[in-house]
Amino acid sequence: MLPYNLQSSDAREFINHDEIVKSIAWAEENKDNQKLIAQVMAKAKEWKGLEHREAVLLLVGAKSRELFDLAGKIKQEFYGKRVVLFAPLYLSNYCVNGCVYCPYNVNNNAMPRKRLSQDDIRREVRALQSMGHKRIVIEAGEHPHFSPIDYVLESINTIYNSGDIRRINVNIAATTTEEYRRLKSAGIGTYILFQETYHEPTYKKLHPAGPKADYAWHTEAMDRAMQSGIDDVGIGALFGLADYRYELAALLMHSEHLEAVYGVGTHTISVPRIRKAQGVSVDSFEHGVTDEIYERIVACLRISAPYTGIIVSTRESEENRRNVLNAGVSQISGGSCTNVGGYSDKSKNNTDTNQFEISDKRSLGEIVHWLLEIGYIPSFCTACYHEGRVGDRFMELCKSGKIHNCCQPNALMTLQEYLMDYANISTKKAGESLINSELQNITSEKTRSLVTKYLEQIRAGRRDIRI
Ligand code: SF4
Ligand code: SF4
Repeated sequence: MLPYNLQSSDAREFINHDEIVKSIAWAEENKDNQKLIAQVMAKAKEWKGLEHREAVLLLVGAKSRELFDLAGKIKQEFYGKRVVLFAPLYLSNYCVNGCVYCPYNVNNNAMPRKRLSQDDIRREVRALQSMGHKRIVIEAGEHPHFSPIDYVLESINTIYNSGDIRRINVNIAATTTEEYRRLKSAGIGTYILFQETYHEPTYKKLHPAGPKADYAWHTEAMDRAMQSGIDDVGIGALFGLADYRYELAALLMHSEHLEAVYGVGTHTISVPRIRKAQGVSVDSFEHGVTDEIYERIVACLRISAPYTGIIVSTRESEENRRNVLNAGVSQISGGSCTNVGGYSDKSKNNTDTNQFEISDKRSLGEIVHWLLEIGYIPSFCTACYHEGRVGDRFMELCKSGKIHNCCQPNALMTLQEYLMDYANISTKKAGESLINSELQNITSEKTRSLVTKYLEQIRAGRRDIRI
């Protein structure tokens, strides 16, 4: 039996199976212990986060309404009303891995394979920009010939030099420290890699082929990334593959490990749920989570990791996205295409490279309008990345509650840009009205007058102003 060791470099020690099993057993034993749950909720109300064991207790025992209210308040306290928007950009669906839940797996002969050329990428960037996007995450299957690191780096360079995409996050396969160093030098934002499942026997069953089959190599990837100088990493689990209590505990243990060893926990946590895709049936996975459990997972993550961005994609429906926004989500994708080349090529036969079925099919414009209607500030901000507020510098601001002083002004300014450049008349009206009222919520008079001045400059044509 391996010991639980937060500081260990061995995946099986820092994501320790016995510790997770004991945490779940302890939480289940105490799920009706209202006194203990109240104590953990009181600790959570100090807004300094919870440990994985406490989080599992709340997940199985706390009242939903109390969980959602607290999670919503924490999100509001740390980040205000802003919701950051982004889009995925699929570069290639060639893949040597055998992930059973993904249609890009090497054994799926029915999937057409495609890789974008640099000209294709320029077209995709133009299409994304014409929607209003400033922040993207690039996605590529793992393939030594079709998507080697040189191709990924060249693509990043093309994107940064094709217009006004201001931050590129990267979601590519686990790799070596040398290749992470090269990604860092290319100026990436967050390096994202989903664990899919932390439960090793399930992981082995679902990853029968390719380099990703190596559980330790995959699980220790964030250590290599941080050792290579990458400041911000984003983790995630694909809910539905294994017991959701197991995944929640493990996600938090992963972040606790990174914080203990590198002084900075994970920058973001993504919470995708398994979706139907070509050759992938949701019914073949026995650990599906209901909408209510899904919301509870999000709320527990928000309460336990207040300083971490929580991301929900268009895999979720409009209704679910609204619910999880209220439970602490801080970033969502919008107007997404999950196929290779889908932004510039809208023809029907192009959807045959979809990685998964989208639930929220609304355009970015519709999502911006919807966010305004339900009381959030749609934000296209990328300021921290450009101002060097990354890694431990970012976390310091977040932990002291000061990041809100950056998020609110930058959200208003990037929304103003969006309204000028992309919005229809009704969104423009709703957005202007929100900007005027939210401006008054900036408590510092100095910042308020600076933002007022910058908003005027944006209305006059200046772009990419940030604080
Ligand atoms: Fe390849 Fe990623 Fe799909 Fe696995 S999940 S088959 S690694 S693209
Ligand atoms: Fe994100 Fe920083 Fe902008 Fe806030 S100010 S939205 S944390 S980039």
